[in-house]
Amino acid sequence: PQAQVDLRSFIRDLPDYPSPGITFRDITPLLSDPGAFAAAVHRLADLVPADTDVIAGLEARGFIFGAALAHHMGIGFVPIRKAGKLPPPVHRYTYDLEYGTATIELRQDTIPTGARVVILDDVLATGGTAAAGATLIEQCGGRVHHLVFLLELAGLSGRERLAGRPVSAVFDL
Ligand code: 5GP
Repeated sequence: PQAQVDLRSFIRDLPDYPSPGITFRDITPLLSDPGAFAAAVHRLADLVPADTDVIAGLEARGFIFGAALAHHMGIGFVPIRKAGKLPPPVHRYTYDLEYGTATIELRQDTIPTGARVVILDDVLATGGTAAAGATLIEQCGGRVHHLVFLLELAGLSGRERLAGRPVSAVFDL
């Protein structure tokens, strides 16, 4: 029955948010529907290689899906956070945004050397956030096994930004 759930119908479009001309894809209706949330977790799990050691979720919606997914698969979860949230010692990576920069952090010693890490987020847009997460995982000694998303915004070329890395999404818009 979960294969029949139309996940796209649980995504709410918010026009002109957060700025004019941008349509934000709101995933919260999917979270609040138990059948859709369960179907999303099952379909994410289908995209995660069976030999994955750990799920690394990107703040903040990557925590929601990533934690549920890790629990479902019986493997661990590690949060990649925005700067200043995790207690030291942390590894840190700063990357460019359209205007300015952003910094993400990962607690040291949470990724065993050589661990097969799947990076997880709700939405792949331009790919900048996920590319930064992949770099940080490698700086910490992990191997980026796969990048998995619920929703890929196909017009934004995120996959090209992640060129050479294995990328999967449950559905696109
Ligand atoms: P990117 O770095 O790929 O351009 O942006 C992806 C990040 O921004 C992800 O962490 C994602 O949660 C967030 N994001 C960008 N656009 C959207 C959107 O339309 N909907 C949601 N839910 N998140 C978005």
